[in-house]
Amino acid sequence: MRYLVLSDIHGNLEAMQAVMDQARGEFDQVICCGDIVGYGPNPNEVTEAIRDLKPLVVRGNHEKAALGMVDLSLFNPLAKQAALWTRNVLTAENREYLRLIPTGPIYNSEFTLVHGSLLDEDEYLIDRDEALLSLKSAPNAVTFFGHTHIQGGFVVLEDGRSGVLNPVIRQGAFEGELSIDPRHKYLINPGSVGQPRDYDPRAAYVIYQAEQQRVRYMRVDYPLQTTQEKMVKAGLPPYLIDRLRLGR
Ligand code: ZN
Repeated sequence: MRYLVLSDIHGNLEAMQAVMDQARGEFDQVICCGDIVGYGPNPNEVTEAIRDLKPLVVRGNHEKAALGMVDLSLFNPLAKQAALWTRNVLTAENREYLRLIPTGPIYNSEFTLVHGSLLDEDEYLIDRDEALLSLKSAPNAVTFFGHTHIQGGFVVLEDGRSGVLNPVIRQGAFEGELSIDPRHKYLINPGSVGQPRDYDPRAAYVIYQAEQQRVRYMRVDYPLQTTQEKMVKAGLPPYLIDRLRLGR
C-alpha cells in the first residue's frame, strides 16, 4: 500500500487542494494525524474533503476545541479566538463527523497513528528525549504523528542511539526521502498541510510506500494569499494570517 499522510490541515482549503493535486495517483489510502479544523477559514469544506477521502484518522486537540470538549483557557488567546470562530461556523453534520473520530493511538500491521505522542494525544514531541520516552511503547517500526507542525521526526536505532530527522527541501524541489529499516523505530511527522511552523510556508505532507519501506517527505506551494484574504474577511486574528506567509 501507498499512503498519503496528512496532518494539521487546519481548515486551509487551498493548501489541501494543492497537496491533493500534487499527490494524485501516488497513494491508495489517506491517513490523517488530526487537526483537520482550527485556525483556517474553511473548516467545513476541509472536513467534507477529508470525509470523502475515507481516511484512517485520529482526532487532534483542535477537533476537541471545536466541539467544546476542552477547556479553552488552556489555549493561547488567538488559538482560542479561532477555535470559537470554528465552533460557530461548523455545520451539525461536520461536527458529528469530527466527534466520531477516534482518539489515538490507532494501529494496523504497518504503522501507528497518533496526534501528539504515543503517550498523550496533546503532547508536543519537540526534542529527542521526549521522543525516546514515547517510542518505548511503539508497537510498529513506523509511527506517524503531528501536532508540532514541523516536518521530520525522530529515530531510535536498535542499539539505543537516536537522532532527529530533519529533511530540508530546497525551494524548487519538493521531496526528501527516508528509507525505513524495520529494526529501528521511527516517529515520522509529515509536517502541517495548513499551517507549517518549520520556516517553510509550503504545505507539507508525506507519501509512505509501505512495501518499499520508503518515506517521502513532500512540500508544495499553494496560493496562500487567497487563504489569507478569506481569513481577513472572516475576522480571524492578524497574527494567524501573517504566520502562513512566514511558515512559523
Ligand atoms: Zn495543529
